[in-house]
Amino acid sequence: MNTGRRTTTVDVWGQDAESVLESASDCEQVVLISDPASGLEGVIAVHSTVLGPALGGLRFQSYPSRAAAMADALHLAKGMTYKAAMAGLDLGGGKAVINGDPAKLRSERLLRAFGRHVEALGGRYVTAEDVGTTEADMAMVARETRWVTGLATGLGGSGDPSGSTAKGVFAAIEAAVEAQFGSPVLDGRSVCVLGVGKVGGRLAELLVQAGAVVRVADVHTAAVADLVQRLPVTALSPDAALSAEVDVLSPCALGGLLDQQSIPALRCAAVAGAANNQLADAACGELLRQRDIVYVPDFVANAGGIIQLASELSGGTPESVADQIAALRGRVTDVLQRARVQGVSTHRAAEELAEQRMRDIGALQSVRLPASSRGRS
Ligand code: NAD
Repeated sequence: MNTGRRTTTVDVWGQDAESVLESASDCEQVVLISDPASGLEGVIAVHSTVLGPALGGLRFQSYPSRAAAMADALHLAKGMTYKAAMAGLDLGGGKAVINGDPAKLRSERLLRAFGRHVEALGGRYVTAEDVGTTEADMAMVARETRWVTGLATGLGGSGDPSGSTAKGVFAAIEAAVEAQFGSPVLDGRSVCVLGVGKVGGRLAELLVQAGAVVRVADVHTAAVADLVQRLPVTALSPDAALSAEVDVLSPCALGGLLDQQSIPALRCAAVAGAANNQLADAACGELLRQRDIVYVPDFVANAGGIIQLASELSGGTPESVADQIAALRGRVTDVLQRARVQGVSTHRAAEELAEQRMRDIGALQSVRLPASSRGRS
């Protein structure tokens, strides 16, 4: 999928970033951005535009090194490509990262300087809110570029996508439960939601409404206390959550929690959650398969948000967003069935489906059209 296009202002970032850039051979374009006056130092990674403009949020946080910031942008951009492809969207994958503490660096100048870099890409990259950025930040970025999505409703956008993400995870849990128990009905099923922030909190509400027996855990104890007070849910510690005996574990905090140590200790029948990059590495997908735990690949389960953002870009309706999110259940079922038939991990099965779609749709460019329809406006 590499088109060979790439901007390498390595001089700004130094040699430490060069080795990361060298390893990013499957990324279409990597733009190293800076504005010394405002302290802006960042990366825009356009992983793939095969299916459409590369959509991915702006992450604003301090990294241990510039190379680490760049590696994160590249890794996350690739994940966005697979997420959009599996969600059936006409979007590619990208990600932007600003390296620095948003509490210290956030300013109108910095955000607008970032916006100018986005605008310079002419729509190849579309930005959105992510870790460390807010709706207000996006409104500032939008003063320099139209290539922003997830804007506040007051600014004509569709607002925070977390509710849509939670609905998609709910659909993924239904599919996982159906695969494991023969019925998607969640009434009476036990689910542990690990991380009850914007997505996990809303998911807990949906699960309670469906009659599930819900347990919640979060390092932020106030968030747990709030849910316990509002809903018939029980609390447990984040450590205990990972090995809780439940039908479904739903990771909705940070990535990387499913590794060689934690997987043998799992006591759930299925894992389906919102957190990005839940598997420490691809081998962990295989480990879950060997343990007969149905794992819904994160980039399939958490696509509800990107579906909402894509709709905002294309002028879609809330009804079409709801339909596409509901369709996630069938998509998850396809992935789980394919994995079973092929004897591969669900993660690999989903990657293959995404790659297949990129190959098929990417090849549309070479479809020969009848002479009479060429060049007509
Ligand atoms: P959030 O920051 O609102 O919530 C995350 C919660 O996880 C917080 O309450 C935090 O205290 C908790 N947490 C952090 N570390 C923890 C730990 N070690 N153990 C237990 N809890 C911990 O984030 P969010 O928007 O709800 O997103 C949750 C996850 O889903 C993230 O990984 C995010 O990247 C992913 N995601 C979110 C969206 C979306 O629409 N918001 C879309 C796709 C993916």
